[in-house]
Amino acid sequence: MRTSIVWARLLGVEKTVIEDVQFDEAAGAIVVSVRPRKKERNRCGICHRRCSQYDRGEGRRRWRALDLGVIRAYMEADSPRVCCPEHGVVVAAVPWARHKARFSRYFDDTVAWLATNCSKSAVQELMRISWRTAGRIIERVADEARERIDLLAGLRRIGIDEISYRKGHRYLTVVVDHDRRRLVWAAPGRDKATVHSFFDALGPECCTAIQEVSADGGTWISNVVTERCPQAKLCMDPFHVVQWATNALDEVRRTVWNEARHQGQTAQAKDLKGARFALWKNPENLTERQQAKLATVQVTNKPLYRAYLLKEQLRQVFQLKGERGMQLLKEWLAWASRSRLAPFVKLARTIREYLPAIHDALRLGLSNALVESTNTKIRLIARRAFGFHSPQALIAMAMLTLSGLCPHLPGR
Ligand SMILES: [Zn+2]
Repeated sequence: MRTSIVWARLLGVEKTVIEDVQFDEAAGAIVVSVRPRKKERNRCGICHRRCSQYDRGEGRRRWRALDLGVIRAYMEADSPRVCCPEHGVVVAAVPWARHKARFSRYFDDTVAWLATNCSKSAVQELMRISWRTAGRIIERVADEARERIDLLAGLRRIGIDEISYRKGHRYLTVVVDHDRRRLVWAAPGRDKATVHSFFDALGPECCTAIQEVSADGGTWISNVVTERCPQAKLCMDPFHVVQWATNALDEVRRTVWNEARHQGQTAQAKDLKGARFALWKNPENLTERQQAKLATVQVTNKPLYRAYLLKEQLRQVFQLKGERGMQLLKEWLAWASRSRLAPFVKLARTIREYLPAIHDALRLGLSNALVESTNTKIRLIARRAFGFHSPQALIAMAMLTLSGLCPHLPGR
């Protein structure tokens, strides 16, 4: 095998001529001089159309490639500009890297894969790049993948939700596909204009194909859905209804805790504080200690235990779904209204307001698991994305992780 072919294989490049290999002592790196094959030369960096050369651009430049053994590697080549009839004067395309990138295609893919699978520090150490740079690479890879795969094609049942990604009320609006169980769209903002921009991206034809939309009851979503997809059934997201109940339960807990404190029952107040997680968690996930805690609450604090049962029964409603779920919900509403627990009396009123949308959710059997898990995962991603230069990088990382856009590791 000729040495140049070995080098091309090693770097994983195609349609590329290897001219020379040097060791750059100053940079402590291997530098491979390359050029595109004749057919690949003078093509527009954006549309790949063959164009006439405009000028030499910035002359010779380097692209970082994957490390070779223990040392860094670069590819070096001319970087002429071409004049595209559509895109004007642009840097010519190269087969080994994405447009405007300073890294090879395989370097980009590797960073994208690692960022969705490993810790932030592992990516930085292993690839010898800053987290900000990783953010830009992730964006580039996700953008290209989104051009290749149309996530918005054939949508029938979707969920629209908001996710807070940073303190100080910074939100993303996200859309999930209930059928293919993946994230399909996200954008910064939490208002009507953002929801409108989703339906703009979807296009009028695909809008008419939407049959079910689940959301949290916010009018900024429901009003836009009714306007853009009048045929779609609007369902209440079970996840949010259960969350309301969890909030009501927490209100009851705080009230009884404050009462106990003011009456000087310090031991009971302490117990109640500790019971917080036991009350929040789903019973099947409780540890033995939390089960014991809950048993104490049952004996020592009747109102709080009643609130706990109310929350659990509401969760049960959505597990049952269908007619049985609706029957249980009817009983739940009666019980909550008579419960003498102000937060639950209020919750029963709210639920009655949204009853048609909740009934639709029970009838259609929309699962809350997808919205709930997407929610949790994006929040985790948001925490890791801290340090990226823009919410776009966070969105790109979410798309790579939750939309199935992540590239394979090179050579595998
Ligand atoms: Zn072009």
